[in-house]
Amino acid sequence: MFTSHCYGRSVQIKKELGLTYLFIAHDLSMVKHISDRVGVMYMGQLVEIASSAELYANPIHPYTKALLSAIPIPDPQIERNKSMIPLEGEVGSPMNCTAGCRFASRCRYATERCRTETPQLEDRGEHHFTACHNLKKIL
Ligand code: SF4
Repeated sequence: MFTSHCYGRSVQIKKELGLTYLFIAHDLSMVKHISDRVGVMYMGQLVEIASSAELYANPIHPYTKALLSAIPIPDPQIERNKSMIPLEGEVGSPMNCTAGCRFASRCRYATERCRTETPQLEDRGEHHFTACHNLKKIL
Protein backbone atom coordinates (compact mmCIF):
# COMPACT_ATOMS: atom_id res chain seq x y z
CA MET A 1 0.00 0.00 0.00
CA PHE A 2 1.33 3.40 -1.02
CA THR A 3 0.74 5.75 1.92
CA SER A 4 1.13 9.51 2.25
CA HIS A 5 4.41 8.78 4.06
CA CYS A 6 5.66 6.84 1.00
CA TYR A 7 4.56 9.70 -1.22
CA GLY A 8 6.36 12.33 0.87
CA ARG A 9 9.51 10.22 1.04
CA SER A 10 9.52 9.54 -2.72
CA VAL A 11 9.22 13.27 -3.48
CA GLN A 12 12.05 13.99 -1.07
CA ILE A 13 14.35 11.33 -2.60
CA LYS A 14 13.50 12.55 -6.09
CA LYS A 15 14.54 16.11 -5.20
CA GLU A 16 17.65 15.14 -3.24
CA LEU A 17 19.06 12.85 -5.91
CA GLY A 18 17.68 14.57 -9.00
CA LEU A 19 15.92 11.37 -10.06
CA THR A 20 13.27 10.62 -12.60
CA TYR A 21 10.87 7.84 -11.67
CA LEU A 22 9.00 5.57 -14.02
CA PHE A 23 6.16 4.40 -11.81
CA ILE A 24 3.76 1.75 -13.11
CA ALA A 25 0.42 1.39 -11.34
CA HIS A 26 -3.25 0.59 -11.74
CA ASP A 27 -4.44 2.97 -9.05
CA LEU A 28 -5.03 6.24 -10.89
CA SER A 29 -6.17 8.04 -7.74
CA MET A 30 -2.66 7.62 -6.34
CA VAL A 31 -0.81 8.22 -9.61
CA LYS A 32 -2.32 11.70 -9.73
CA HIS A 33 -0.47 12.72 -6.59
CA ILE A 34 2.98 11.38 -7.37
CA SER A 35 3.38 12.10 -11.09
CA ASP A 36 4.42 15.09 -13.14
CA ARG A 37 3.48 13.35 -16.36
CA VAL A 38 1.19 10.35 -16.93
CA GLY A 39 0.97 7.82 -19.76
CA VAL A 40 -2.14 5.64 -20.00
CA MET A 41 -1.72 2.23 -21.64
CA TYR A 42 -4.28 -0.23 -22.92
CA MET A 43 -3.01 -3.73 -23.71
CA GLY A 44 0.54 -2.54 -24.12
CA GLN A 45 -0.32 0.46 -26.31
CA LEU A 46 0.06 4.03 -25.09
CA VAL A 47 -3.28 5.75 -25.68
CA GLU A 48 -2.76 9.06 -23.89
CA ILE A 49 0.12 11.07 -22.42
CA ALA A 50 -0.15 14.42 -20.65
CA SER A 51 0.95 16.30 -17.59
CA SER A 52 -0.77 14.99 -14.51
CA ALA A 53 -2.78 18.19 -14.04
CA GLU A 54 -3.90 18.23 -17.68
CA LEU A 55 -4.78 14.53 -17.86
CA TYR A 56 -6.96 14.56 -14.74
CA ALA A 57 -8.68 17.82 -15.69
CA ASN A 58 -9.19 17.07 -19.41
CA PRO A 59 -9.00 13.37 -20.26
CA ILE A 60 -9.59 12.79 -23.97
CA HIS A 61 -9.23 9.10 -24.80
CA PRO A 62 -12.35 6.99 -24.11
CA TYR A 63 -10.32 4.50 -22.05
CA THR A 64 -8.80 7.24 -19.89
CA LYS A 65 -12.23 8.77 -19.36
CA ALA A 66 -13.63 5.41 -18.23
CA LEU A 67 -10.69 4.81 -15.88
CA LEU A 68 -10.97 8.22 -14.27
CA SER A 69 -14.74 7.90 -13.88
CA ALA A 70 -14.16 4.71 -11.85
CA ILE A 71 -11.97 6.38 -9.21
CA PRO A 72 -13.91 6.29 -5.94
CA ILE A 73 -14.67 9.65 -4.34
CA PRO A 74 -14.29 9.61 -0.55
CA ASP A 75 -17.61 11.41 -0.03
CA PRO A 76 -20.54 8.94 -0.03
CA GLN A 77 -23.03 11.49 -1.34
CA ILE A 78 -20.87 12.61 -4.25
CA GLU A 79 -19.83 9.02 -4.94
CA ARG A 80 -23.48 7.90 -5.10
CA ASN A 81 -24.40 10.63 -7.59
CA LYS A 82 -21.39 10.59 -9.87
CA SER A 83 -21.70 9.14 -13.35
CA MET A 84 -19.41 6.28 -14.25
CA ILE A 85 -18.54 5.36 -17.80
CA PRO A 86 -18.96 1.58 -18.00
CA LEU A 87 -16.52 -0.44 -20.07
CA GLU A 88 -18.36 -3.03 -22.11
CA GLY A 89 -17.36 -5.50 -24.78
CA GLU A 90 -14.71 -8.15 -24.92
CA VAL A 91 -11.24 -7.74 -23.45
CA GLY A 92 -8.91 -8.90 -26.18
CA SER A 93 -5.77 -10.94 -25.63
CA PRO A 94 -2.40 -9.16 -25.71
CA MET A 95 -1.05 -12.40 -27.22
CA ASN A 96 -3.35 -12.02 -30.19
CA CYS A 97 -3.08 -8.38 -31.22
CA THR A 98 -3.81 -7.50 -34.80
CA ALA A 99 -3.78 -4.15 -36.56
CA GLY A 100 -6.06 -1.41 -35.35
CA CYS A 101 -6.88 0.17 -32.05
CA ARG A 102 -6.61 -2.40 -29.25
CA PHE A 103 -9.47 -0.70 -27.43
CA ALA A 104 -11.87 -1.12 -30.39
CA SER A 105 -13.76 -4.12 -28.97
CA ARG A 106 -14.73 -2.04 -25.92
CA CYS A 107 -15.14 1.41 -27.41
CA ARG A 108 -18.56 2.91 -28.05
CA TYR A 109 -17.06 5.20 -30.73
CA ALA A 110 -15.31 2.47 -32.73
CA THR A 111 -15.62 2.51 -36.52
CA GLU A 112 -14.31 0.21 -39.22
CA ARG A 113 -11.15 2.30 -39.48
CA CYS A 114 -10.44 1.63 -35.79
CA ARG A 115 -10.34 -2.12 -36.48
CA THR A 116 -7.86 -1.90 -39.33
CA GLU A 117 -5.60 1.08 -38.68
CA THR A 118 -3.61 1.63 -35.50
CA PRO A 119 -4.10 5.20 -34.22
CA GLN A 120 -0.91 7.13 -33.56
CA LEU A 121 -0.28 9.48 -30.67
CA GLU A 122 -0.83 13.07 -31.78
CA ASP A 123 -0.28 16.26 -29.87
CA ARG A 124 -3.66 17.90 -29.18
CA GLY A 125 -1.95 20.93 -27.66
CA GLU A 126 -0.17 21.55 -24.36
CA HIS A 127 1.90 18.38 -25.01
CA HIS A 128 -1.25 16.35 -24.49
CA PHE A 129 -0.96 13.32 -26.77
CA THR A 130 -3.87 11.02 -27.64
CA ALA A 131 -4.13 8.05 -30.00
CA CYS A 132 -7.65 7.97 -31.41
CA HIS A 133 -9.21 8.22 -34.89
CA ASN A 134 -12.53 9.69 -33.79
CA LEU A 135 -11.83 12.62 -31.54
CA LYS A 136 -14.30 14.80 -33.41
CA LYS A 137 -17.06 12.41 -32.32
CA ILE A 138 -15.77 12.20 -28.78
CA LEU A 139 -14.97 15.83 -27.96
S1 SF4 B 1 -9.39 4.77 -32.28
FE1 SF4 B 1 -11.50 4.12 -32.43
S2 SF4 B 1 -11.69 2.35 -31.08
FE2 SF4 B 1 -9.80 3.41 -30.56
S3 SF4 B 1 -10.39 4.78 -28.91
FE3 SF4 B 1 -10.58 5.95 -30.78
S4 SF4 B 1 -12.72 5.70 -31.43
FE4 SF4 B 1 -12.28 4.14 -29.90
